Amino acid sequence: MRTKITASWIVGHANGRHSLIRDGEIVFEGNRIVHVGAKFEGPVDRTIDTAGKLVAPGFIDTHVHSGHRASHRLITDTGRPMYYGQPFLEISVPKEGKVVKGDPRYLKHGDAGSEAAFQLNALFTVAELIRNGVTTFIEYGSQLRVQDALLAEVERLGSRAYLAPGYDCGRWVGDEQGRLKRVRNDRLGEEGLKVALQWIAAHDGAAGGRIRGILVPREVETSSVEVLRRTVRAADELKLPMATHAAYSVIEFYEVVKEHMMTPIELLDSIGMLRPTLNIGHGNFVADNPNLNYSVARDLELMGKSGATISHCPINIMRRARVLDNWQKYADAGVNMSIGSDTYPRDMIMNMRTASYLGKIMSHTYFAATSGDVFEAATLGGAKSVGRDDLGRLSPGALADIIIIDLDGRGSLRYGPVRDPVKSVVECGVGDDVDTVIVDGKVIMEGGIIPGVDFASIRAAAQAAGEEVWATLQDWDPLGRTHEEACPWCYAMDQ
Ligand SMILES: [Zn+2]
Repeated sequence: MRTKITASWIVGHANGRHSLIRDGEIVFEGNRIVHVGAKFEGPVDRTIDTAGKLVAPGFIDTHVHSGHRASHRLITDTGRPMYYGQPFLEISVPKEGKVVKGDPRYLKHGDAGSEAAFQLNALFTVAELIRNGVTTFIEYGSQLRVQDALLAEVERLGSRAYLAPGYDCGRWVGDEQGRLKRVRNDRLGEEGLKVALQWIAAHDGAAGGRIRGILVPREVETSSVEVLRRTVRAADELKLPMATHAAYSVIEFYEVVKEHMMTPIELLDSIGMLRPTLNIGHGNFVADNPNLNYSVARDLELMGKSGATISHCPINIMRRARVLDNWQKYADAGVNMSIGSDTYPRDMIMNMRTASYLGKIMSHTYFAATSGDVFEAATLGGAKSVGRDDLGRLSPGALADIIIIDLDGRGSLRYGPVRDPVKSVVECGVGDDVDTVIVDGKVIMEGGIIPGVDFASIRAAAQAAGEEVWATLQDWDPLGRTHEEACPWCYAMDQ
């Protein structure tokens, strides 16, 4: 089956970068693109007319923590200063001996209601990503059953994902006084790596190749050097990409320096882990960051020389008063920039805009972090992070992962006059503007509708799950706070 898309604007590809094509056509046959450019003269079975819209490669979200993220809503405009703005310490570190309630990512096998909760989280995640034009996503190390549920939804709804259970050598907990405490268990990490490898052996290549494996030792400070070494060995042997949180938190940076007498990035370099197919989340607290007051700054140079990737999640870090310092320095050093949504909203267009604006401010020039740069990070950067040259671009031979973006702001005046469609999307767009999503040559969303997905019922189920998360905070919060104490309402509640 051969399909032709006629378009006012196409983001094409030439000489390793995107290009712009006006009044062009794309043709794909089966799951591969066979033509991008001027008029296609051959016969086709179907034509999709996209007059007035932008046809682009699907987005690649390189940093997804699955679920509805209800717990994250408890730290808006607030939090504990001792965590230096690191969200996961706020919302996923329970009092010692307790578990975080209401989030199925922390449920154990056999817990009541868990099946439905896993399923809701997976459906919410995959549906939200598709709705926002994400054709490939990388899940950042949730546990086994979360991955099983995601796999089922990706298979059913037709998108593409890099999945596998993550692992670590122990976690952070809150002690009896609510202070941070690290619980270490190196064997847990070694066993976790085995589980990940088994999962990958069973599922890599599933759903016609749309599911692929990735090795995720979750955080550098909660991984033993031995587990990291074994991860590198497995990645080399099996040609797998890797992802880990590193240079992402003030506490993690100093913990690693204290334990290893190296920065997190120097530690990764010392075991040969730095490479384009290492996705470093978020890589913003590097030794070069003046806020860390570290006197020997080699991190950016090491990351750049190796071409390592960062998953930059601008909305999520900015909300916690943190920033990437800065886009231009990273790009000049040779770091592969990719973009992730991390928490919520899973809106790659808003994330591109935020990356661009913060990039300009922090680089002190409006020539930095251009619309073209951030659009490439959201597509080609992500593809490079998983070692793929058949994703993130619209060119003959690439997989037909294509999105069609509405440029009329869903019937509003939001866009105004459109001159350059990519600049307009980055400046004026939102994820909802994605109208149609094609993955592997198959239309999986049309007119904003994903067959078999009812947004209203998912929203209602997520709201109910959120109410439970908020109501049970006191059971596990290291300070024993209610949600109203931990996160006061924006105004005094007036009955
Ligand atoms: Zn993360």
